[in-house]
Amino acid sequence: HAKQKGGNTYCFNTDNQTNELERFYHIEQEITKALEQNQFSVVYQPLVNLKDSKIVGMEALLRWSTPTLGSVSPDEFIPILEQLGYINEVGKWVLHAACRQMKIWLDNGLELERISVNVSPVQFSCEHFLEKIKETLIETGLEACFLELEVTEGTILSIKESLKTLNELKSMGVKISIDDFGTGYSSLSYLKNLPISSLKIDKSFINDLDIDSEVIVNTIINLGKNLNFTVIAEGIENQAQLSYLQHQHCQLGQGYYFSKPVRAEEIPRIIKEYQVVSR
Ligand code: C2E
Ligand code: MG
Ligand code: MG
Ligand code: MG
Repeated sequence: HAKQKGGNTYCFNTDNQTNELERFYHIEQEITKALEQNQFSVVYQPLVNLKDSKIVGMEALLRWSTPTLGSVSPDEFIPILEQLGYINEVGKWVLHAACRQMKIWLDNGLELERISVNVSPVQFSCEHFLEKIKETLIETGLEACFLELEVTEGTILSIKESLKTLNELKSMGVKISIDDFGTGYSSLSYLKNLPISSLKIDKSFINDLDIDSEVIVNTIINLGKNLNFTVIAEGIENQAQLSYLQHQHCQLGQGYYFSKPVRAEEIPRIIKEYQVVSR
């Protein structure tokens, strides 16, 4: 009986691996044509000031969908873009799209302070990275102070030149935020020398705010206060989480409770609704 069970399990695993491999090859094939076939798009998720519920910024999030695969999660396709060496090109495309959109919003009178764009370690370590940022700002006409780049702790710690790159970004006026904060392995003493402007508490700590997560969340909020970083909580899904974070004086938040990531066209309406609510 045990043997038969083992055999089944083995078969099951093999099938799974085959499916995974097939999917990987399928994605690999499709993604090389994605840019030229206009299959990428960018959605935007509001960043909210938790004190007065005003929308202060947006995070740009990449989306990919194809006729055969449907919509594929960035958690699945970004690593593949990195492996295939396409992330620099796609990353530049996202950056350009997001800066252009932000410029349009500002020109239309929307009161937004920042557009946040995620940056992969591969982009961050590319020797032309800073040039590409400068180029994009010039091409789109967006002022540097409106751009915030999101990098993870892993990115900063794994790249030798990262402090130099961060300092140059700062001198250009571009802001840096550490994404998924708390899941990496930052030594806290290292943090105080970093020219960054905000910490984003990883959504895993907000999702299940039990006693342990509360301790971690409070520690990050206090750390931000003491080191003068803005603290952003991601993944806020309900009123209880929001109330808790407000009570702890976390400055900014982001999550489905406020809004899912949406297409650019929907943003002016969402901002208008928020202005009405907060008044
Ligand atoms: P991230 O930068 O930490 O982005 C936050 C993720 O949490 C997004 O997932 C967002 O849709 C999701 N989220 C927001 N609010 C909630 C909530 O209340 N509950 C839950 N459960 N989730 C929420 P998404 O868009 O699937 O992106 C996943 C990750 O893919 C991002 O994590 C980021 O690391 C990466 N990514 C997305 N766009 C880009 C990009 O343009 N470039 C690079 N390099 N990475 C990107
Ligand atoms: Mg992010
Ligand atoms: Mg994050
Ligand atoms: Mg992430």
